[in-house]
Amino acid sequence: MQPALLKTIVIVGGGTAGWMTAAALATTLRGRYQIRVVESDEIGIVGVGEATIPMIQLFNKVVGIDENEFMRATQGSFKLGIEFVNWGKLGDRYMHGFGPIGQALWTVPFEQYWRKMHALGRAQGLENYSITRMACKANKFMPPRHDVENSPLNHIAYAYHFDASLYARYLRKLSEERGVRRTEGKITHATQRAGDGHIDAVVLESGERVEGDLFIDCSGFRGLLIEQTLKTGYDDWTHWLPCDRALAVPCESVPVLTPYTRSTAHRAGWQWRIPLQHRTGNGHVFCSNAISEDEAAATLLANLDGKPLADPRLIKFVTGMRRKTWNKNVIAIGLASGFLEPLESTSIHLIQATIQRLIDYFPDQGFSQTDIDEFNRQNRFEYESIRDFIILHYHANQRTDSEFWKACAAMAVPESLQRKMALYKSRGRIVRFNNELFSEVGWLQVMEGQNLATQGYNPLADLLPEGDTADYLESVRGVIAKCVDVMPDHAAYIQQHCAAP
Ligand code: FAD
Repeated sequence: MQPALLKTIVIVGGGTAGWMTAAALATTLRGRYQIRVVESDEIGIVGVGEATIPMIQLFNKVVGIDENEFMRATQGSFKLGIEFVNWGKLGDRYMHGFGPIGQALWTVPFEQYWRKMHALGRAQGLENYSITRMACKANKFMPPRHDVENSPLNHIAYAYHFDASLYARYLRKLSEERGVRRTEGKITHATQRAGDGHIDAVVLESGERVEGDLFIDCSGFRGLLIEQTLKTGYDDWTHWLPCDRALAVPCESVPVLTPYTRSTAHRAGWQWRIPLQHRTGNGHVFCSNAISEDEAAATLLANLDGKPLADPRLIKFVTGMRRKTWNKNVIAIGLASGFLEPLESTSIHLIQATIQRLIDYFPDQGFSQTDIDEFNRQNRFEYESIRDFIILHYHANQRTDSEFWKACAAMAVPESLQRKMALYKSRGRIVRFNNELFSEVGWLQVMEGQNLATQGYNPLADLLPEGDTADYLESVRGVIAKCVDVMPDHAAYIQQHCAAP
């Protein structure tokens, strides 16, 4: 028995996932459905998840968010990339900058010319050919200037850092203004229809039943509907990504407001640093089999910019994903759908991508198993390709200082990643599978940044004479350096446009 027409959508949970979903559905479905969010103040939200990637601009655009207002409301800062410290070897540093590297020349990607000339000692480090990487180094920021078509200034890709609690509050206000109804209360259980087992209501501690046709499970790690009720199952990936805990702590911010996230590898995990206007967010992601919580906390606290503003808070997780994101009339979004550690700030993007897919496959005329299967297939592909990218960071290391890193370097990685690494090692070729999230340039920066050696370069790079190639690289580098010179300081830009009151 299927509903003739969908009328009510119930979103369970009001964290980043719940309110992003509510805001997007209220905007795109324009009042055709009743949308209700049920959240519990007592349970609260996970409250981390403060670094993003550039695709979030598309979400903001669809939802109609004004950037400056949003930055003020969330104490936000701009993000041009991620700095990785100690990942290849202890003491190494590289930046994964957003946007392109170099400028397309002719037959082969820019980095093939660069690789050839770098080996000959006639090119500088790869970062010199990326405007965002050089801007990170100089703590500069400005949005792209689309009036200068051929300039690197036109290709500044950026994202945001923001306060997760303020972000949820901001999206809640926006959603409620667009007709979303919020119910506060703790859900004790869900009831299922006889026959097909679809969920027909969630029941609150007060006894209230909230009925719906479509349920979006944004209840966080507990997966209230997708797992506790529907027992969908979970693929555990900890044999590839062994970290299973994080300790998070905010600290006072320091004067240089950096336009990038920093990720510093420690003995058995890594620490994030996310600069916001009013504080700096920090967290140590670690493997509890390799170090104790006390040692992890001590490492975290010893590596802060300034005074901690709270005690470290422990968060436990199991890396992996639900076997199905969409099961019966429940779609899991956010932590309820799976977890990949925030090394490349991908979780909020996965929320956004799942919402987009939900809108694409919206079941307005009832549930089609063909649609559901395709939705799940696409979601799995996206999760698995990001998983591979994150595994690369752990696997491509040459550290000898801890058993943890040696085990990561020695582990067997998924076949899909093995193929990518083998292609890169032969001629520096990078293959992007289908429409996976990370582009060739993203993979390049991590592979090169973590010292993955290539045996050569694509011979087509030899079609351009060496002198011309050197001149070309030098002109690209010079133009980028000049562009970075004219960019404003990141803190000054925020002060002028979007400083929080
Ligand atoms: P939650 O925030 O946990 O929200 C769950 C909601 O469900 C809450 O409102 C809660 O009240 C409600 N709920 C649960 N049970 C009930 C019940 N019984 N009754 C009623 N309501 C209920 N992502 C990034 O993109 N970038 C990052 O830098 C990043 N860093 C992270 C660091 C860590 C350590 C972790 C764990 C995650 C990080 N993430 C990051 C992921 C990001 O935090 C989440 O994707 C995001 O916050 C979404 O969470 P959520 O809304 O799914 O869950």
